[in-house]
Amino acid sequence: MASRKVFKLGESVLRKKSKQVVEFDEDLWQLLDDMKETMYKNDGMGLAAPQVGVLRRVVVMDVNNQYYELINPEIVYQEGEDVDTEGCLSIGKFKDEVVRPYKVTVRAVDRYNYPLEITGEKYFARCTCHEIDHLNGILFVDRSKHGKEFLAKKEGK
Ligand code: ZN
Repeated sequence: MASRKVFKLGESVLRKKSKQVVEFDEDLWQLLDDMKETMYKNDGMGLAAPQVGVLRRVVVMDVNNQYYELINPEIVYQEGEDVDTEGCLSIGKFKDEVVRPYKVTVRAVDRYNYPLEITGEKYFARCTCHEIDHLNGILFVDRSKHGKEFLAKKEGK
């Protein structure tokens, strides 16, 4: 395993749409292992492949001391609303309030292409939505309460 560089706001890879994973091979497993190490090294709750410069639909998360690997994830059900503060390894220190569903069901596959369906509340739902956004080139500051001002300041530099 090796920790990889985390790409930051302003780098174009974070704004692109990731492609579905079709090959479940050693390259994918290496990517997952490296993402896991990178997430823990940076004290993140989740990490999506574009954050390490790879435009594939791959996510790792650690929520409530449970480690998840989600490949080609899709939210198939969501319920309720939850407002809480979010941050992102690609953004840095800025944290802000984001409205997310309170509960989601996500469908994905694991590293062997075995189907998964997981339902979770609160931080699981928040983290899953945040990471899937990354796969679509969306950052939490696009949705957060003061995100517009933050982005204007960043981009105005
Ligand atoms: Zn993020």
